[in-house]
Amino acid sequence: MDLGIKGKRALVCASSKGLGRGCAEALAAEGVNLIINGRTSETLEATAAHIRQHYGVDVIAIAADITTVEGRTAVLAAATDIDILVTNAGGPPPGMWSDWQRDDFIAALDANMLTPIALMQALIPHMINQGWGRIINITSGSVKAPIPVLGLSNSARAGLTGFVAGTARQVAPHGVTINNLLPGLHATDRAVELDSAAAKKQSITVDDAKQQRCATIPSRRYGTAQEFGASCAYLCSQHAGFIVGQNILLDGGAINSTL
Ligand code: NAP
Repeated sequence: MDLGIKGKRALVCASSKGLGRGCAEALAAEGVNLIINGRTSETLEATAAHIRQHYGVDVIAIAADITTVEGRTAVLAAATDIDILVTNAGGPPPGMWSDWQRDDFIAALDANMLTPIALMQALIPHMINQGWGRIINITSGSVKAPIPVLGLSNSARAGLTGFVAGTARQVAPHGVTINNLLPGLHATDRAVELDSAAAKKQSITVDDAKQQRCATIPSRRYGTAQEFGASCAYLCSQHAGFIVGQNILLDGGAINSTL
């Protein structure tokens, strides 16, 4: 299927690895020119070179921490006249409900709620002016069903989800859609980090921790960044213009609910 977005320009945040990279590559495969981002320059440049070589699109790589004002300023300076925005950042650390202090909550809110909101506020006006835009926020399955060890993520992402629910309906009349993609367990460095924390807690191997977690997923495996990216590209397509303010779960059936 031709997604009808060849030649569009996308900003994909936190995209040198993992799910963000999956989205960047899926958009590049559709002929979308990219601005990609990550904090580690070397990894980011290697990803940019790979995408240019494999997909023949323009790629601007901005090494910056997207959760800081300075980082966002650097990224946004390159991101004028953007058609597609994919927001993403690293997830907060695991822990217990009793562990976290005010500063921990502020850091999580900054990274996983206020950063995507600031990016949307900066880029939506241009999308409204041109009468077309696509925004995807990478959030988490924790929005639908809380993950006990990720209380910081449960909290911050719920706030972002509320903002999107209201805003998506306000910008839709201008041809701009906002939707959230909710990953369940995917095979990325983040999954290794969480498997390692679970292994340490239970004094088992990381592989055993992974097998334990795979057993809780009806698909009996972790998702891939490629699958995730393909869903993102579809939501950014011309065909997805009637999908507004949705929270789309990609979790292999892990959350057991009828709706
Ligand atoms: P990942 O494999 O660890 O990749 C994270 C990417 O984001 C890297 O390219 C990293 O590069 C970049 N990054 C992290 N913090 C950044 C920052 N402050 N500024 C700019 N770039 C940053 O993670 P992932 O699995 O793709 O996860 C992406 C998001 O989905 C996270 O918020 C995670 O919590 C959420 N999620 C993931 C899963 C899963 O199973 N993988 C499940 C639910 C939710 P640098 O380190 O070089 O900056």
